[in-house]
Amino acid sequence: MRSPTAADLPSVWQHEASVPAACWGRGPTPAPVDLAIVGGGLTAAWLAYHASRRAAGRWAIAAFSDGPLAHGASGRNAGFVLGGTSELYATLVGQVGRPAARELLALSQQNRQFVRTVLRAAGHGAEYRETGSLYLGAPDEGETLAHTVQWLTEDGVPAESLPLSRVPARLQSLGLPHAAFFPEDGAVQPVQLAATLVRQSEGAGVSWYAGARVDGWAVQEGVGVRLSVGGDHVWAKRVVLCTNAWLGQLVPALADVVRPTRGQVLATGPVSLDYAYPVYADHGYLYWRPRPNGTLVLGGRRDLDPDAEATDTLALNPRIQAALTALASRLAGGPVTVAHRWAGIMGFTPDRRPVVGAVAPGVWVAGGFSGHGVAMTGAVGDLVARHLLDGAPLPRSLDPGRFYAPA
Ligand SMILES: Cc1cc2nc3c(=O)[nH]c(=O)nc-3n(C[C@H](O)[C@H](O)[C@H](O)COP(=O)(O)OP(=O)(O)OC[C@H]3O[C@@H](n4cnc5c(N)ncnc54)[C@H](O)[C@@H]3O)c2cc1C
Repeated sequence: MRSPTAADLPSVWQHEASVPAACWGRGPTPAPVDLAIVGGGLTAAWLAYHASRRAAGRWAIAAFSDGPLAHGASGRNAGFVLGGTSELYATLVGQVGRPAARELLALSQQNRQFVRTVLRAAGHGAEYRETGSLYLGAPDEGETLAHTVQWLTEDGVPAESLPLSRVPARLQSLGLPHAAFFPEDGAVQPVQLAATLVRQSEGAGVSWYAGARVDGWAVQEGVGVRLSVGGDHVWAKRVVLCTNAWLGQLVPALADVVRPTRGQVLATGPVSLDYAYPVYADHGYLYWRPRPNGTLVLGGRRDLDPDAEATDTLALNPRIQAALTALASRLAGGPVTVAHRWAGIMGFTPDRRPVVGAVAPGVWVAGGFSGHGVAMTGAVGDLVARHLLDGAPLPRSLDPGRFYAPA
């Protein structure tokens, strides 16, 4: 398999949809803004959406992305809209305690509500369906999955343990003996979702710039934050850095906290499956979803080559892609055609929770979604918008200061 460049590795979602934005440098440099958003993915788009609505024309807001919009993880994921963080709920409870875990769980539920509302208002579905999701646990995940089901149920979120005999026949022999079903989960076409958010925020006054790389920032007390953008500069009263896997380039203290981690994905031609919900499996190392058009999107298995996948270089991993192809055939019950192969770069934190909070006066970060941002960014964008505009508190369990002491 040849080594592709980013330009020839578009995801199936990017093939089907695009997110237009004004090109940086083609017009005048923006005047000072009340809020500058750095990033071109779902975090930036959701923040732009929520902040522009909440500000209702009182703030000038601009968003800057180094590449085309939805070019990072947001355009390259599997589109699962799951609950909680990327850890099973029982693991999350073990990390942060029950009250903080409930707070994060509530965020993911609110996220689904936002996805629903935005897509309804846009008059199209972006393929969003709340089909529920199946989790297939590895042999050592039985206890965690059982606690997850029990504690979610106690906390008011539907969840059900399933005997393996009740999962689709082809899934019973994968060596993943524990199963649970989460009826509220779903999946979306992520690029269509991002495009919808960008359009709606533009309609509310946000200026979006593509090809606008932010090379650095400096706080000048009493004046604001000076952003270096594509050889020029822009002043902002406040800045939110939503650059996910690349946060460490703009905040060196986060370089060892949010680690770029590559994921491999493929999309098949038509296959015949007797279920319509996304499946997440084996410690989250494997995931697939049948699409309404009868094809299958399948990704994961970075555990087969973890050192090679600890990178921000966008390239296919032949070994992992071969394993995914073999699995796709097994799931389909026969040979499959692979229509698209791609990779994407996630930002993983050590505890798999995002970092959301201030890193300097007037500068905030929101990123490190650890492979789970489609499920969280809508609610995180709302939290940050409410924090900036109304002074609402941010969750302590997401504070970047849990990893280092902000200056
Ligand atoms: C293969 C794969 C599968 C996934 N599957 C799922 C899933 O099924 N469900 C789920 O919930 N999550 C999933 N995720 C994770 C999810 O995609 C991310 O958590 C989410 O998209 C993060 O959004 P973001 O906007 O923070 O980051 P990104 O989408 O990565 O956006 C970061 C943006 O910052 C821009 N940028 C970087 N540096 C600069 C700079 N200096 N100046 C200006 N712009 C800059 C980049 O161009 C990019 O647009 C998956 C991710 C991958 C890669």
